[in-house]
Amino acid sequence: MSTPGPVPGAKHNPAMTIFEKIARREIPADIVYEEEDFLVIRDINPQAPVHVLMFPKKVIPRVGEAEAADAGVLGRMLAASGAIARKLGVYESGYRLVINHGPDAGETVPHLHIHLLGKRSFAWPPG
Ligand code: 5GP
Repeated sequence: MSTPGPVPGAKHNPAMTIFEKIARREIPADIVYEEEDFLVIRDINPQAPVHVLMFPKKVIPRVGEAEAADAGVLGRMLAASGAIARKLGVYESGYRLVINHGPDAGETVPHLHIHLLGKRSFAWPPG
C-alpha cells in the first residue's frame, strides 16, 4: 500500500509545483495516505472539517490535460476515495469530490488534485 519517498526518477526542477515538493518531502504536509503514484494530504486552508487533497506524484497540470496514459493513476485515486473517506470518518455521512479546472472553477495549483471534503453538508448546485 504505502511507498513513501520521492517520485522515482524525478530530477530537481526549480519550477516544481507545491505538490511535487510535498511528494519529494522538500516541504512538510500532513500526509494521510500514500500509494506508489499518489498522495493524500490535508488541505492547508480547509473548507470543511475534513478536507484532503489527492494528487498524482507525477504532474498532470489539470484534469482537462490528462491523457490516456494517466487513466491508471486517476482511476486508482477514485477507487481509493472510499477507503480514505472511511479512514477520515465521512463514508457514512457523505463526502464530496471536486476537481477544479481553470480560472472559472477556482483552480490555483497547476497540479491535478481531487479535493475530498466532508463532515458538513454541501449546497447543490455548487456555488
Ligand atoms: P485548487 O484551488 O487549485 O483547486 O486547490 C488548491 C488547494 O491547495 C487549495 O485548497 C489550497 O488551500 C491548497 N494548498 C495550497 N498550497 C498548499 C500547501 O502548501 N499545502 C497544503 N497542504 N495545501 C495547499
